[in-house]
Amino acid sequence: MTTSRQLLIGDAWVPAASGTEFSTFDPATGKQIGVCADAGTEDVNRAVAAARTAFDQGAWPKMLPAARARVLWRIADLLEERGEALARMETLDQGQTLSFATDVSVSFAVETFRYYAGWCTKIDGTVKSVSIPDMLTYTTREPIGVCALITPWNYPLLLASWKLAAALATGNTVILKPAEDTPLTTIELARICVEAGVPEGVVNCLSGGAETGRALVAHPGVDKVSFTGSTKVGKGIVAAAAGDLKRVSMELGGKAPSIITEEADFEAAIAGSLEGGLVNSGQTCVAYTRFFVPRSMSDAFAEHLAAAAATLQIGPGLEPNSVVGPLVSRTHLDRVTGYIEKGISEGARLVGGGSRLDGDLADGNFLQPTIFTDVTDEMTIAREEIFGPVLSVLPYDKLDEAVARANDTTYGLGASIWSKDLASAHRLASAVRSGMVWVNMSPLCDPAMPWGGMKQSGWGRELSGSGMNEYTEEKAVWISLRN
Ligand code: NAD
Repeated sequence: MTTSRQLLIGDAWVPAASGTEFSTFDPATGKQIGVCADAGTEDVNRAVAAARTAFDQGAWPKMLPAARARVLWRIADLLEERGEALARMETLDQGQTLSFATDVSVSFAVETFRYYAGWCTKIDGTVKSVSIPDMLTYTTREPIGVCALITPWNYPLLLASWKLAAALATGNTVILKPAEDTPLTTIELARICVEAGVPEGVVNCLSGGAETGRALVAHPGVDKVSFTGSTKVGKGIVAAAAGDLKRVSMELGGKAPSIITEEADFEAAIAGSLEGGLVNSGQTCVAYTRFFVPRSMSDAFAEHLAAAAATLQIGPGLEPNSVVGPLVSRTHLDRVTGYIEKGISEGARLVGGGSRLDGDLADGNFLQPTIFTDVTDEMTIAREEIFGPVLSVLPYDKLDEAVARANDTTYGLGASIWSKDLASAHRLASAVRSGMVWVNMSPLCDPAMPWGGMKQSGWGRELSGSGMNEYTEEKAVWISLRN
């Protein structure tokens, strides 16, 4: 028996105006675990109206910063208090292991709200030194207005928290739109916001699919869209926002290169590459996917990677021993296995994995971590974002050549460098065209560090003070001091 979840519009939880619902499934078993209202155009209109009223007439944008900070802090406390249940829900809906859901998804959501609670009292402008006599000139930062926050299925609670905490800290009102595959924890987050004392209409939550997102982006009452998802949909959002020049920030796809140098710590590079490649079963925008390895070392690197991958326990995220969980849906599993077939047909050498799991796990979307070597730059698996546990080793002869090949992609989100030589590590970190670079480590994030991409990996940054700027407009104020 599954509970039906409703939409949060203004101060009420309501079914979709059309009465339509959709189901969400456990990727480890294929079983239905929830039913959610499917928001349509009428619901979007009502949610935007509620957010508009809350912004134009409500207390939130003008609330004293310290009072707003206390509300954000309460959201963090409630998230923490319910952490166990939220982590379990995330695992059931998304597939990630329970330890990951607990230690990363929930913990980081909590810390993000605490971090932005701190920012509420530090949203400062500056006094400017203009070269005109008798002027006082200063800037302020003001909220943008009604923000549509559209998130993907890979880190539902985490990514909704990144957007929501920054948008709320700066005094905006919002409409959350989680991905249709993983709506559950975002709905709980909206419920927590209400309990924490967020005023009516400041946080609205519309579950639904692409059509719900499309209606939000097209709505003239939405001032800003913050989107995390695929580059393809991101481009569509830019086109749709052109009509009224909505503010848009975007965190899009990636195809992270790793450059392993000759002087790298080989063992550490294997362990970190595997961890970075398989984080959330490879369903991570910054997952390491293309490993550029000196030709003399590339066979050994691929074999060690495959041997280490073969030892990882694959299974449902709720099983304590599982290290690699299922992919989010059957459709996505089919898509990823399609890439594996393409890799083989285009001549890459499969060193390990590549198969779905059968037996007891056949109903889940499980896939063995898959390692290819002798991958060349023009192969589909080296160019397109796979978003699954598929790692490609690409041998190189010269370091400059490896850098040029690492940068030969339309994406520019994450990258990793493996080198024990300090100067070489710094040089490579600078040479790689990506928004984030991790040296001698798997990818990490922290609320204090900006997150985002170059090239077709997005516009703008989330987290840190930069993330806060994405939700404010800068105003220049001129005061004449002449009598
Ligand atoms: P997606 O683009 O298919 O969907 C993302 C969200 O947009 C969902 O909520 C979906 O319902 C909605 N949507 C779909 N079509 C829409 C439209 N036309 N207008 C408005 N909204 C629409 O992405 P996905 O498959 O859910 O997520 C995977 C993608 O997300 C990958 O490409 C991954 O790299 C990217 N991602 C990027 C980051 C980052 O920080 N750069 C983080 C996580 C995921």
